[in-house]
Amino acid sequence: MPTPGSRRLVEIFERTAAVMEAKRDHLSDLDGAIADADHGMTMSLGFRAVAATLARTDAQRVTPSEIFRIAAGAFLDAVGASTGPLYASGFLRAAQRLEGTTRFDEAAAAATIEAIASGIAERGKGSRGEKTMLDVWLPAAEAAQQALRETPGRFWPCVQVAAAEGAEATRTMIAVRGRAARVGDRSIGHIDPGAVSALLILEAMASAFEDGGPDAEHQ
Ligand SMILES: [Mg+2]
Repeated sequence: MPTPGSRRLVEIFERTAAVMEAKRDHLSDLDGAIADADHGMTMSLGFRAVAATLARTDAQRVTPSEIFRIAAGAFLDAVGASTGPLYASGFLRAAQRLEGTTRFDEAAAAATIEAIASGIAERGKGSRGEKTMLDVWLPAAEAAQQALRETPGRFWPCVQVAAAEGAEATRTMIAVRGRAARVGDRSIGHIDPGAVSALLILEAMASAFEDGGPDAEHQ
């Protein structure tokens, strides 16, 4: 089955792996301020594993759903700790949501962002306002759905603004989850590293669309 959306999705994961590598030390520094300084290494390792696994996959032979299933497995294998199961759950939910589609257009992206958000929220039993990656994924998911309905021509700018505002908002929150919860009030003033890496993923997604990507002619 031809899968025009799959190459775009592979491109998104490649870009995400590259940006996590580039921002590895920055993310770890952010994590070091409130927790154990491993977030850059974790995300870099996880997405490098995803990109490497996808590089061995013929994108023309797999559907977007299968790509997310592959990504979930590779990420979980590479990252055993907290972030691993969270993103793996998000990617598996996206795989379910994308079953039956060969495209990866804005509507599919909106469904994907929503699926990742709800997969992470369910796995981590988390919600907004807890100074986590969900403070980016949940508002981005809402913005994506709203943009699809109301301002489809500005889909990615809307998603990116919501994601960036969500990340920035974590600065004034008190961490109640994970290692950062141990520092309590002292987490105030520090942006959450998981929120920043979530923003980077969404920016990588947007850039693959904005540059046209290998499948622009099919979308
Ligand atoms: Mg950490």
